[in-house]
Amino acid sequence: MKILRISGIKLSLDESEKLLAHKVAEILDISVNDIDVVEIIRKAIDARRHKPPHFVYVLKISVPSAVKLPVSLNPGIQLLEVEAPPEIPHLLSASGPKLPVVVMGSGPAGLFAAYILAQRGIPSMILERGSPVEKRIKDVEEFWEKGILNFQSNVFFGEGGAGTFSDGKLTNRANNPYSSWVKKILVEMGAPPEILIEAKPHIGTDKLRKVIVNLRKSLMGLGCRIEFEAQVTDILIRQETIAAVIINEKEEIKTNHVILAIGQSADDTYTKLLERGIQMEPKPFAMGLRVEHPQELINSIQYGKWHHHPQLPPAEYFVKASLPDLNRSVYTFCMCPGGSVIGCAAFPGSVITNGMSNAKRSGEFANSAIVVNVRVDDFASGKQPLSGLNFRQVWERKAFVSGGSNYQAPAQRMTDFLQGKENGVLGRTSFLPGVKPVAMKEVLPEFIINPLSAGIREFDKKMPGFITPDAHLIGVETRTSSPVRICRRSDGQSESIRGLYPCGEGAGYAGGIISSALDGIRAAQHLIDNLN
Ligand SMILES: Cc1cc2nc3c(=O)[nH]c(=O)nc-3n(C[C@H](O)[C@H](O)[C@H](O)COP(=O)(O)OP(=O)(O)OC[C@H]3O[C@@H](n4cnc5c(N)ncnc54)[C@H](O)[C@@H]3O)c2cc1C
Repeated sequence: MKILRISGIKLSLDESEKLLAHKVAEILDISVNDIDVVEIIRKAIDARRHKPPHFVYVLKISVPSAVKLPVSLNPGIQLLEVEAPPEIPHLLSASGPKLPVVVMGSGPAGLFAAYILAQRGIPSMILERGSPVEKRIKDVEEFWEKGILNFQSNVFFGEGGAGTFSDGKLTNRANNPYSSWVKKILVEMGAPPEILIEAKPHIGTDKLRKVIVNLRKSLMGLGCRIEFEAQVTDILIRQETIAAVIINEKEEIKTNHVILAIGQSADDTYTKLLERGIQMEPKPFAMGLRVEHPQELINSIQYGKWHHHPQLPPAEYFVKASLPDLNRSVYTFCMCPGGSVIGCAAFPGSVITNGMSNAKRSGEFANSAIVVNVRVDDFASGKQPLSGLNFRQVWERKAFVSGGSNYQAPAQRMTDFLQGKENGVLGRTSFLPGVKPVAMKEVLPEFIINPLSAGIREFDKKMPGFITPDAHLIGVETRTSSPVRICRRSDGQSESIRGLYPCGEGAGYAGGIISSALDGIRAAQHLIDNLN
């Protein structure tokens, strides 16, 4: 038998997957009896507005060794003999250290670092400042419904990290063999199996919350200890090596190994780390607004006259424009079909926006961030490591005050924003705890506002209909990625302190659920290598 990987196999929206073997037989000009479709590796939708949308597959097939394959293939079809599956890098099992390994943070980076360590016989102690998912859901709902913010248990802090209240998109550009392993673990924990094959997989916050509870149980079964409402408030260092962490300003846990997976929103922890001499530097990030359209409109823009077809999922989009005259680029980010725009304040007196969807993405609205690149020299105080944190706080506080100082967000119709109209009336939006009409130029700096306005006009050329009075801009979107990097050496340890492994989004080396999980895995591998 020969195992082959064939890509570019198309099915119309109305055709059944049972036809895949026939399509392949036709393309390879061999009998359908000689083909066994072993596995669907990937399934994507090709929707280019003026052509009927269709599904495109990558398949693993087997054919008898004697079968002669065609020398040339139609354009768009690729055939490869499959070699051995990509190797997951071999990990030596390690003898555990004398003191427990501490994992700071239970986001994707911390959880997957702990998972790898536990699998190698080094169960760790996970310290999470926020609450377990069950309590966290209540805290977040209370914030969305009543504007009462819990500073330790919110959209950024708590079990599962920043992505727990999200669309659960699992896209990742890195070609890392662990990507599919992470997805497999997520499926074992209850995520839908389709995430293994879809080109743009997503879980949805409703399912993700259950997956995280199962991951917790599984980690505990592997011997991990998980402490919630356990904020690491200080670290003790002896001879440039980590010696202990302090929980909630009182309890000391002795340790020589800490996985630092704190995400990008723990400004107090960054400040403490700086005080303790941990080397950090400012890094560029991006800032802007959320835009919300009726999903139906996005479907019709993206799918054209086929937009009512029942096989088509709520449409997504990604658009970008480079603006050489303004020396900036603007792009959409973290698009949530059928979702809602959510308030994510992490400290008192701030308004921060982001997006979230359920697994079915069946909501009435489509939202996405529209952001502009922010360079390090845009920060008021130059090279200070934490100046980016201060910079984004200024705009988050401004948004809070503009919104009425009650966690409502400033919002403006897109057309009013583009026409410079200041006192427009708002239509309906999904944002909780509510929106207040405000001219967006009040809540962001000019170097962001001008590119946003130029960028939206460019997007409308690529997606005609994008500019509409039915779209609202809601601000401000500041947490696209960390404005700080915690410097680390090639062996994964902090530049300044031995035994400290900065990783994930907060360390400035990852952004997104999968890439943060992969970076956590990398940190755990380094720790194991260094132990060995
Ligand atoms: C609303 C929203 C929607 C998103 N949607 C998506 C999406 O669809 N797809 C995607 O790929 N990405 C999405 N992201 C981004 C993604 O969630 C992050 O990139 C990812 O969670 C980062 O993982 P992490 O483990 O590095 O950090 P985090 O997930 O931020 O986890 C860090 C954890 O550390 C804890 N912590 C912080 N300081 C301390 C301390 N001192 N002591 C103890 N614990 C501490 C925090 O409470 C937190 O739980 C979204 C983010 C948000 C906020």
